Amino acid sequence: MNITQVFNQKKPVLSFEIFPPKKASALESIDETLAELCRLKPDFISVTFGAGGSTVDNKTIELGRKIKNDYSIEPLIHLTCLNYNKEEILEILRKLHKEELNNILALRGDESPDIKPKAEFKYASELVTFIKNHGDFSVSGACYPEKHLEAKDAVTDIHNLKMKVDAGAGHLISQLFFDNQVFYNFYEKTRIAGINVPISAGIMPVTNKKQVERMVSLCGASLPLKFKRILDRYENNPEALFDAGMAYAINQIVELIAAGVDGIHIYTMNKPIIARRICEGIKTLI
Ligand code: FAD
Repeated sequence: MNITQVFNQKKPVLSFEIFPPKKASALESIDETLAELCRLKPDFISVTFGAGGSTVDNKTIELGRKIKNDYSIEPLIHLTCLNYNKEEILEILRKLHKEELNNILALRGDESPDIKPKAEFKYASELVTFIKNHGDFSVSGACYPEKHLEAKDAVTDIHNLKMKVDAGAGHLISQLFFDNQVFYNFYEKTRIAGINVPISAGIMPVTNKKQVERMVSLCGASLPLKFKRILDRYENNPEALFDAGMAYAINQIVELIAAGVDGIHIYTMNKPIIARRICEGIKTLI
Protein backbone atom coordinates (compact mmCIF):
# COMPACT_ATOMS: atom_id res chain seq x y z
CA MET A 1 0.00 0.00 0.00
CA ASN A 2 1.23 3.44 -0.91
CA ILE A 3 0.72 5.65 2.15
CA THR A 4 0.61 8.86 0.15
CA GLN A 5 -2.37 7.48 -1.78
CA VAL A 6 -4.30 6.67 1.43
CA PHE A 7 -4.76 10.40 1.85
CA ASN A 8 -6.77 10.47 -1.41
CA GLN A 9 -9.17 7.88 -0.02
CA LYS A 10 -9.66 8.92 3.59
CA LYS A 11 -9.67 11.96 5.84
CA PRO A 12 -8.34 12.11 8.46
CA VAL A 13 -5.71 9.40 8.16
CA LEU A 14 -4.76 8.02 11.60
CA SER A 15 -1.20 6.91 12.31
CA PHE A 16 1.04 6.04 15.25
CA GLU A 17 4.78 6.35 15.80
CA ILE A 18 6.74 3.70 17.66
CA PHE A 19 10.45 3.14 18.24
CA PRO A 20 12.35 -0.17 18.19
CA PRO A 21 13.36 -1.46 21.61
CA LYS A 22 16.99 -0.59 22.46
CA LYS A 23 18.23 -4.17 22.67
CA ALA A 24 17.75 -6.43 19.66
CA SER A 25 16.77 -9.22 22.07
CA ALA A 26 13.85 -7.12 23.29
CA LEU A 27 12.16 -7.11 19.91
CA GLU A 28 9.85 -9.87 21.10
CA SER A 29 8.74 -7.73 24.04
CA ILE A 30 7.31 -5.18 21.64
CA ASP A 31 4.67 -7.71 20.60
CA GLU A 32 2.29 -6.79 23.36
CA THR A 33 2.55 -3.11 22.48
CA LEU A 34 2.11 -3.83 18.78
CA ALA A 35 -0.88 -6.09 19.30
CA GLU A 36 -2.60 -3.36 21.31
CA LEU A 37 -1.74 -0.62 18.85
CA CYS A 38 -2.79 -2.64 15.81
CA ARG A 39 -6.12 -3.50 17.42
CA LEU A 40 -6.86 0.23 17.20
CA LYS A 41 -6.57 -0.09 13.40
CA PRO A 42 -4.34 2.84 12.50
CA ASP A 43 -3.90 3.44 8.75
CA PHE A 44 -0.14 3.13 9.20
CA ILE A 45 2.51 2.86 11.89
CA SER A 46 5.81 4.69 11.54
CA VAL A 47 8.98 3.20 13.01
CA THR A 48 11.84 5.46 14.06
CA PHE A 49 15.43 4.99 12.96
CA GLY A 50 18.61 5.47 15.03
CA ALA A 51 21.18 8.17 14.29
CA GLY A 52 23.34 5.58 12.53
CA GLY A 53 27.10 5.47 12.22
CA SER A 54 29.07 2.36 11.49
CA THR A 55 26.18 -0.08 11.52
CA VAL A 56 22.89 0.02 9.71
CA ASP A 57 19.87 0.11 12.00
CA ASN A 58 18.27 -3.24 11.22
CA LYS A 59 15.88 -3.12 14.16
CA THR A 60 13.73 -0.60 12.35
CA ILE A 61 13.49 -2.86 9.31
CA GLU A 62 12.79 -5.88 11.49
CA LEU A 63 10.02 -4.10 13.33
CA GLY A 64 8.58 -2.79 10.06
CA ARG A 65 8.53 -6.32 8.69
CA LYS A 66 6.74 -7.53 11.82
CA ILE A 67 4.09 -4.80 11.58
CA LYS A 68 3.45 -5.65 7.94
CA ASN A 69 3.56 -9.44 8.08
CA ASP A 70 2.20 -10.25 11.55
CA TYR A 71 -0.35 -7.46 11.91
CA SER A 72 -1.19 -6.52 8.30
CA ILE A 73 -0.73 -2.81 8.99
CA GLU A 74 1.38 -0.70 6.65
CA PRO A 75 4.65 0.45 8.22
CA LEU A 76 6.32 3.75 7.37
CA ILE A 77 10.07 3.24 7.76
CA HIS A 78 12.04 6.26 9.03
CA LEU A 79 15.43 6.61 7.38
CA THR A 80 18.08 9.17 8.32
CA CYS A 81 20.97 10.04 6.01
CA LEU A 82 23.50 12.30 7.72
CA ASN A 83 25.65 9.46 8.99
CA TYR A 84 25.46 7.18 5.95
CA ASN A 85 27.12 7.26 2.56
CA LYS A 86 25.28 6.56 -0.69
CA GLU A 87 26.35 2.93 -0.85
CA GLU A 88 25.02 2.30 2.68
CA ILE A 89 21.71 3.98 1.89
CA LEU A 90 21.48 1.91 -1.29
CA GLU A 91 22.02 -1.23 0.75
CA ILE A 92 19.16 -0.23 3.07
CA LEU A 93 16.92 0.51 0.09
CA ARG A 94 17.67 -2.95 -1.32
CA LYS A 95 16.68 -4.53 1.99
CA LEU A 96 13.48 -2.49 2.17
CA HIS A 97 12.59 -3.42 -1.40
CA LYS A 98 13.21 -7.10 -0.68
CA GLU A 99 10.88 -6.95 2.34
CA GLU A 100 8.29 -4.98 0.34
CA LEU A 101 8.61 -2.10 2.76
CA ASN A 102 7.87 0.60 0.23
CA ASN A 103 7.00 3.59 2.40
CA ILE A 104 9.89 5.67 3.71
CA LEU A 105 10.00 8.78 5.90
CA ALA A 106 13.16 10.45 4.55
CA LEU A 107 15.01 12.38 7.23
CA ARG A 108 18.30 14.14 7.62
CA GLY A 109 18.81 13.16 11.28
CA ASP A 110 20.81 15.13 13.82
CA GLU A 111 24.53 15.37 14.39
CA SER A 112 25.68 13.28 17.30
CA PRO A 113 28.84 14.09 19.29
CA ASP A 114 30.11 10.51 18.85
CA ILE A 115 29.61 10.15 15.09
CA LYS A 116 31.31 12.03 12.29
CA PRO A 117 28.73 12.73 9.53
CA LYS A 118 29.63 11.07 6.23
CA ALA A 119 28.72 14.30 4.43
CA GLU A 120 27.36 12.59 1.30
CA PHE A 121 23.86 13.77 2.19
CA LYS A 122 23.47 17.21 3.72
CA TYR A 123 19.69 17.63 3.69
CA ALA A 124 16.65 15.34 3.69
CA SER A 125 15.69 16.64 0.22
CA GLU A 126 18.87 15.04 -1.17
CA LEU A 127 17.83 11.72 0.38
CA VAL A 128 14.35 12.10 -1.15
CA THR A 129 15.90 12.57 -4.60
CA PHE A 130 18.23 9.61 -4.07
CA ILE A 131 15.39 7.31 -2.95
CA LYS A 132 13.21 8.37 -5.88
CA ASN A 133 16.08 7.60 -8.27
CA HIS A 134 16.62 4.14 -6.82
CA GLY A 135 13.28 2.42 -6.66
CA ASP A 136 9.55 2.66 -6.57
CA PHE A 137 9.16 4.01 -3.03
CA SER A 138 6.53 6.30 -1.62
CA VAL A 139 8.38 9.01 0.30
CA SER A 140 7.22 11.17 3.19
CA GLY A 141 9.14 13.97 4.94
CA ALA A 142 9.18 15.86 8.24
CA CYS A 143 8.01 19.45 8.75
CA TYR A 144 8.09 21.94 11.59
CA PRO A 145 5.07 24.16 12.37
CA GLU A 146 7.26 26.32 14.64
CA LYS A 147 10.19 26.09 12.17
CA HIS A 148 13.16 23.77 12.46
CA LEU A 149 15.48 24.86 15.28
CA GLU A 150 18.41 25.47 12.90
CA ALA A 151 16.42 27.45 10.34
CA LYS A 152 17.17 31.18 10.17
CA ASP A 153 13.45 32.01 9.94
CA ALA A 154 10.10 30.46 9.08
CA VAL A 155 10.15 31.69 5.47
CA THR A 156 13.53 30.06 4.78
CA ASP A 157 12.37 26.85 6.43
CA ILE A 158 9.22 26.70 4.27
CA HIS A 159 11.29 27.48 1.18
CA ASN A 160 13.52 24.50 2.07
CA LEU A 161 10.46 22.35 2.75
CA LYS A 162 9.17 23.16 -0.73
CA MET A 163 12.45 21.78 -2.15
CA LYS A 164 11.87 18.54 -0.24
CA VAL A 165 8.35 18.25 -1.64
CA ASP A 166 9.51 19.12 -5.15
CA ALA A 167 12.15 16.39 -4.82
CA GLY A 168 9.31 13.87 -4.35
CA ALA A 169 8.05 13.86 -0.75
CA GLY A 170 4.35 13.19 -1.24
CA HIS A 171 3.29 13.53 2.38
CA LEU A 172 4.59 15.35 5.46
CA ILE A 173 4.43 14.61 9.18
CA SER A 174 4.72 17.53 11.54
CA GLN A 175 6.83 17.92 14.61
CA LEU A 176 4.72 17.90 17.79
CA PHE A 177 2.94 21.11 18.77
CA PHE A 178 0.60 22.06 21.60
CA ASP A 179 -1.14 25.06 20.06
CA ASN A 180 -3.41 24.25 17.12
CA GLN A 181 -3.34 27.82 15.87
CA VAL A 182 0.39 27.40 15.23
CA PHE A 183 -0.41 24.41 13.00
CA TYR A 184 -3.23 26.21 11.13
CA ASN A 185 -0.94 29.19 10.42
CA PHE A 186 1.83 26.90 9.23
CA TYR A 187 -0.54 24.88 7.04
CA GLU A 188 -1.80 28.06 5.40
CA LYS A 189 1.77 29.22 4.70
CA THR A 190 2.62 25.88 3.07
CA ARG A 191 -0.34 26.27 0.70
CA ILE A 192 0.70 29.83 -0.15
CA ALA A 193 4.19 28.49 -0.88
CA GLY A 194 2.73 25.95 -3.31
CA ILE A 195 3.19 22.92 -1.05
CA ASN A 196 0.08 20.91 -1.75
CA VAL A 197 0.81 17.50 -0.24
CA PRO A 198 -1.13 16.19 2.79
CA ILE A 199 0.28 17.00 6.23
CA SER A 200 -0.27 14.77 9.27
CA ALA A 201 -0.44 16.72 12.51
CA GLY A 202 1.99 15.28 15.07
CA ILE A 203 0.40 14.98 18.50
CA MET A 204 2.38 14.11 21.61
CA PRO A 205 0.09 13.16 24.50
CA VAL A 206 1.84 14.35 27.62
CA THR A 207 2.19 12.18 30.68
CA ASN A 208 4.83 13.95 32.74
CA LYS A 209 6.27 17.42 33.11
CA LYS A 210 9.94 16.47 32.73
CA GLN A 211 9.18 14.67 29.46
CA VAL A 212 7.52 17.82 28.06
CA GLU A 213 10.36 20.05 29.17
CA ARG A 214 12.88 17.74 27.52
CA MET A 215 10.88 17.52 24.28
CA VAL A 216 10.36 21.25 24.14
CA SER A 217 14.06 21.97 24.67
CA LEU A 218 14.89 19.50 21.86
CA CYS A 219 12.38 20.69 19.28
CA GLY A 220 11.48 24.25 20.25
CA ALA A 221 7.69 23.74 20.50
CA SER A 222 5.97 26.50 22.47
CA LEU A 223 3.74 25.82 25.46
CA PRO A 224 0.43 27.72 25.54
CA LEU A 225 -0.56 29.19 28.92
CA LYS A 226 -3.52 26.82 29.35
CA PHE A 227 -1.17 23.89 28.89
CA LYS A 228 1.46 25.29 31.28
CA ARG A 229 -1.25 25.67 33.93
CA ILE A 230 -2.07 21.95 33.62
CA LEU A 231 1.61 21.01 33.99
CA ASP A 232 2.09 23.27 37.02
CA ARG A 233 -1.07 22.17 38.76
CA TYR A 234 -0.62 18.41 38.35
CA GLU A 235 3.16 17.94 38.16
CA ASN A 236 3.21 16.06 41.49
CA ASN A 237 0.10 14.00 40.82
CA PRO A 238 0.98 11.55 38.01
CA GLU A 239 -2.51 10.11 37.66
CA ALA A 240 -4.14 13.52 37.41
CA LEU A 241 -1.46 14.69 34.97
CA PHE A 242 -2.04 11.61 32.84
CA ASP A 243 -5.80 12.28 32.73
CA ALA A 244 -5.29 15.98 32.01
CA GLY A 245 -2.62 15.23 29.36
CA MET A 246 -4.93 12.80 27.56
CA ALA A 247 -7.85 15.24 27.73
CA TYR A 248 -5.64 18.00 26.30
CA ALA A 249 -4.44 15.80 23.41
CA ILE A 250 -7.98 14.59 22.64
CA ASN A 251 -9.22 18.16 22.63
CA GLN A 252 -6.41 19.15 20.24
CA ILE A 253 -7.30 16.27 17.92
CA VAL A 254 -11.05 16.97 17.96
CA GLU A 255 -10.39 20.58 16.98
CA LEU A 256 -7.94 19.56 14.25
CA ILE A 257 -10.39 17.06 12.77
CA ALA A 258 -13.18 19.63 12.85
CA ALA A 259 -10.86 22.01 11.00
CA GLY A 260 -10.36 19.37 8.28
CA VAL A 261 -6.81 18.16 9.03
CA ASP A 262 -5.39 15.61 6.55
CA GLY A 263 -4.01 13.25 9.17
CA ILE A 264 -3.37 12.74 12.88
CA HIS A 265 -0.03 11.17 13.81
CA ILE A 266 0.22 10.12 17.46
CA TYR A 267 3.62 9.86 19.11
CA THR A 268 2.72 6.82 21.24
CA MET A 269 6.09 6.44 22.99
CA ASN A 270 5.38 2.70 22.75
CA LYS A 271 2.64 3.02 25.37
CA PRO A 272 -0.57 1.37 24.17
CA ILE A 273 -2.52 2.93 27.03
CA ILE A 274 -1.89 6.33 25.48
CA ALA A 275 -3.08 5.30 22.02
CA ARG A 276 -6.06 3.45 23.53
CA ARG A 277 -7.20 6.43 25.58
CA ILE A 278 -6.88 8.77 22.62
CA CYS A 279 -8.65 6.41 20.21
CA GLU A 280 -11.42 5.89 22.73
CA GLY A 281 -11.94 9.66 22.83
CA ILE A 282 -12.12 10.09 19.05
CA LYS A 283 -13.48 6.73 17.83
CA THR A 284 -16.56 8.12 16.16
CA LEU A 285 -14.64 10.97 14.52
CA ILE A 286 -12.13 8.92 12.52
P1 FAD B 1 15.88 18.74 6.62
O1 FAD B 1 14.59 18.73 5.87
O2 FAD B 1 17.11 18.47 5.85
O3 FAD B 1 15.99 20.14 7.34
C1 FAD B 1 17.02 20.38 8.31
C2 FAD B 1 17.39 21.85 8.32
O4 FAD B 1 18.08 22.19 7.12
C3 FAD B 1 16.19 22.79 8.41
O5 FAD B 1 16.57 23.89 9.19
C4 FAD B 1 15.99 23.23 6.96
O6 FAD B 1 15.37 24.50 6.86
C5 FAD B 1 17.42 23.25 6.45
N1 FAD B 1 17.52 22.97 5.01
C6 FAD B 1 16.87 21.98 4.32
N2 FAD B 1 17.26 22.00 3.03
C7 FAD B 1 18.16 23.00 2.89
C8 FAD B 1 18.93 23.50 1.80
N3 FAD B 1 18.84 22.97 0.56
N4 FAD B 1 19.77 24.54 2.02
C9 FAD B 1 19.89 25.09 3.26
N5 FAD B 1 19.19 24.65 4.33
C10 FAD B 1 18.35 23.62 4.15
N6 FAD B 1 15.47 11.69 13.83
C11 FAD B 1 16.06 10.47 13.89
O7 FAD B 1 17.28 10.39 14.12
N7 FAD B 1 15.33 9.32 13.69
C12 FAD B 1 14.00 9.34 13.43
O8 FAD B 1 13.37 8.29 13.27
C13 FAD B 1 13.33 10.62 13.38
N8 FAD B 1 12.01 10.71 13.10
C14 FAD B 1 11.41 11.94 12.98
C15 FAD B 1 10.05 12.03 12.65
C16 FAD B 1 9.41 13.26 12.54
C17 FAD B 1 7.95 13.32 12.16
C18 FAD B 1 10.16 14.47 12.78
C19 FAD B 1 9.47 15.81 12.69
C20 FAD B 1 11.51 14.40 13.11
C21 FAD B 1 12.16 13.14 13.21
N9 FAD B 1 13.52 13.03 13.52
C22 FAD B 1 14.13 11.80 13.58
C23 FAD B 1 14.31 14.23 13.81
C24 FAD B 1 14.98 14.83 12.54
O9 FAD B 1 15.99 13.96 12.07
C25 FAD B 1 15.57 16.19 12.95
O10 FAD B 1 14.54 17.09 13.26
C26 FAD B 1 16.58 16.81 12.01
O11 FAD B 1 17.18 17.91 12.70
C27 FAD B 1 16.00 17.39 10.73
O12 FAD B 1 15.58 16.40 9.88
P2 FAD B 1 14.78 16.79 8.53
O13 FAD B 1 14.61 15.56 7.79
O14 FAD B 1 13.59 17.60 8.84
O15 FAD B 1 15.89 17.72 7.83
